[in-house]
Amino acid sequence: MNIHEYQAKEIFRQYNVAVPNSKVAFSVDEAVEAAKELGSNISVVKAQIHAGGRGNAGGVKIAKNIDEVRQYADEILGKTLVTHQTGPEGKQVNRLLIEEGCDIKNEYYIGLVMDRATSRVVMMASEEGGTEIEEVAEKTPEKIFKEVIDPVVGLTPFQARRLAFHINIPDEMLGNAVKFMTRLYTVFMEKDCSIAEINPLVTTNDGQVLALDAKLNFDDNALFRQKDVFELRDLDEEDEKEIEASKHDLSYVALDGNIGCMVNGAGLAMSTMDIIKHYGGEPANFLDVGGGATAEKVTEAFKIILSDDNVKGIFVNIFGGIMKCDVIAEGVVEATKQIGLEIPLVVRLEGTNVDQGKKILEDSGLNITSADSMADGAEKIVSLVK
Ligand code: ADP
Ligand code: MG
Repeated sequence: MNIHEYQAKEIFRQYNVAVPNSKVAFSVDEAVEAAKELGSNISVVKAQIHAGGRGNAGGVKIAKNIDEVRQYADEILGKTLVTHQTGPEGKQVNRLLIEEGCDIKNEYYIGLVMDRATSRVVMMASEEGGTEIEEVAEKTPEKIFKEVIDPVVGLTPFQARRLAFHINIPDEMLGNAVKFMTRLYTVFMEKDCSIAEINPLVTTNDGQVLALDAKLNFDDNALFRQKDVFELRDLDEEDEKEIEASKHDLSYVALDGNIGCMVNGAGLAMSTMDIIKHYGGEPANFLDVGGGATAEKVTEAFKIILSDDNVKGIFVNIFGGIMKCDVIAEGVVEATKQIGLEIPLVVRLEGTNVDQGKKILEDSGLNITSADSMADGAEKIVSLVK
């Protein structure tokens, strides 16, 4: 789960991770009020969306007085921002962060991620902050420094100092930088984060080390014990179909293609997407209905797939183990009865109760193409969609 910058900064404040003073605003009047309360000479008006790259897209504006705060807030609120992270459709801005202008000396990058190669949390730091870190990683990887963190010991002051040295934090601010990194690591661990990214981390002319931007992602599997974090969820930022799917406990991820997939098991779902691509098609989604799905769950899954206007055909690929083929077939028939089916549907069933499943589909009178294998099914749906 993802949260907004202002929410991440709220969490930082609880852990004494240094951030500039700021306030969230949901309207232009609130923005003006916030700037007055902050009382700084310069205020920054920042669009709050779940995507980075706002600065370059006109979503971060420096206001020199209250009139400019009003003007920028008015400009940005309600606007659809297109950044390199939003995709071409962009994201509508419904919230603003009004922040005290910061007297930046230098911009750095700090990130914490789970590194799968070492199975450890890794802290990364770079002197090339403010810019796109992906570009730094590609063109000048030697400018990114890493510390692998022992889960028992945690981030040691020694490691934090080494990172700070590598990225050339001035000596007089080393202490503050080490404190910053140590506390950030505590947030990451205690809040079950999957990513913490500070770009930029800045030093100021009066010796502070502050997070100017803050991105936190959380491990969904830990949200049951992070109730306060879960409350920060902003449904406006999420795909409607994904929200619906999570209500029914379905693993669904929307993609760009036009072939809807309904599969059981994550591994089979992945290989189904691969084989569709192999035959020249593009999957519209990843969907794992899980091992013990009921007919109702399959019906919901089918409805979610059909609610995507880009879907021009559906491939159901089920291996009946715990999940029985007749249950799947019932779900498919029920869903198509409820919402109709005007696009091609290819079904490949294998495993427990496969004959009953196939019979249910045949007797339904629906226009269903059956397939004998995964490859056969993928080939059929790709040609039907074309
Ligand atoms: P994004 O990463 O989405 O572009 P950032 O929060 O990183 O958004 O802001 C972009 C840039 O705007 C920063 O690199 C920084 O130079 C400037 N900026 C952001 N917040 C402030 C602030 N409070 N004071 C001064 N400059 C800021
Ligand atoms: Mg940034």
